Amino acid sequence: MFSIDNFIRPHLKSLKPYSSARDEFEGEASVYLDANENNLGSLAGGVDYNRYPDPYQKTIKEKLSKLKGIRPEQIFIGNGSDEAIDLLMRLVCEPGRNEVLLLPPTYGMYEVSANIHNVGIQRVPLDEHFQPVFEKIAEKQTESTKILFLCSPNNPTGNILEPATVEKLIRSFNGLVVVDEAYIDFTDIPSWSTRLDEFPNLLVMQTLSKAWGMAGLRLGMAFASPEIIGYLNKIKPPYNINVVTQELVSAALDKTAQLQDMLQVIIKERTRLVEAFEALPLIEKVYPSDANFVLVQVHNANELYAYLLERGVVVRNRSTQPGCANCLRITIGTPAENDNLLESLNAYSAQEATL
Ligand SMILES: *Cc1c(COP(=O)(O)O)cnc(C)c1O
Repeated sequence: MFSIDNFIRPHLKSLKPYSSARDEFEGEASVYLDANENNLGSLAGGVDYNRYPDPYQKTIKEKLSKLKGIRPEQIFIGNGSDEAIDLLMRLVCEPGRNEVLLLPPTYGMYEVSANIHNVGIQRVPLDEHFQPVFEKIAEKQTESTKILFLCSPNNPTGNILEPATVEKLIRSFNGLVVVDEAYIDFTDIPSWSTRLDEFPNLLVMQTLSKAWGMAGLRLGMAFASPEIIGYLNKIKPPYNINVVTQELVSAALDKTAQLQDMLQVIIKERTRLVEAFEALPLIEKVYPSDANFVLVQVHNANELYAYLLERGVVVRNRSTQPGCANCLRITIGTPAENDNLLESLNAYSAQEATL
C-alpha cells in the first residue's frame, strides 16, 4: 500500500514550515498591526492590495471543490501548474540520486524542472499512436524512480492516453503518478480526479491557463490525497497566489455558462480546422485532437513555419520532438484567426503548385 510518508525526502517530513502572520492569527479584528503591511493603503489602488493574500486560497478552493466534486483538503493551488511540478520534484526527488519517468513527446516543463533540480530522467517513448507502452514502462522503473508523468490529453500530440493503460500504470507504479490534465475541459472523458480515493499514489493537475482563458493570472491546481496536498502546502512559498489573481479567479469561477459557450466555439472551430486540414494536400497527417490545438505533419515543417511567420501567423514547430518529424502544433484561434490561417495555408499551397 502506497504511503506518501515513505516517498517524500526524509528531511521534509520534519520540516517546520514558515509561519506567517496570517497563519498565527486567523479571526476577525478591527486593527491589524501584525504583518508590517502599509495600513495607509496601496499605491496600486484596490481595496486590499496593501494586505497579504490568503496563503491557503480558501474562497477559491471552496468554489473548485463544488465545481470538481473534490474536498478542499484534496486541492493544492499553485502559481501555474508549473509551480506544482516544481514542488513535486522538491518533495520526492533527491537531487543526483532519484529519477522521474517521462513519455516523450510530451510537455517540456517536466524535463526542465527535473534538470533544474538535478533529478535524472528516464524516457519511454509513446508508441506510433502516441500511447504509453505498459510493459516497457514497467521494465524501466527502478528503486530510484519516484514520479511517472502522464499527460492526457497529451501536449503536443493532442490525444487522450488510453484509460485502461493509465489505470494499469497507476496500479502498478511504485511511486507517484502525475496525470496532467491541462486540456481536460476540451474532452468529454471524466477526469482522473474522480478516482482519487481509489489511488493513494495519484496526483491530477489541471490549470486555468487553457479552457478558462486565464494564462496571465497564473493559477494551477493539483488534486490528490489530503496527505500529499498537506506536504505541498508545507513546502510552498507562503503567499504563492497574489490578491489580484485570487479576486479575479474567484469571480471567474462563477461563470460556468460562459465557459461552456467558449468551449463550444473552440470545439466547433477545431472540427472545422481538422476538416480543412484533411482536405489540404500539403498536410500529410492530421492527428486526432481532444485539446485546443491540432498537431499536423507536413512535407517541410521549417519552411511552412517560416512562411506562416512571414504572414504574421505564428504556430509551434515541434519537429525536433521524438516521433514528431515535420510536425507543427496549431492552436485553435478565433473564427477570424482560423480563417486567416487557412488563407495562408491555401496561399502556400498555390505557391508550391507553381514551383
Ligand atoms: C499549458 C500546459 C500547462 C499549464 O501550465 P500553467 O503553468 O498552469 O500555465 C500544464 N501542462 C501542460 C501539459 C500544458 O500544456
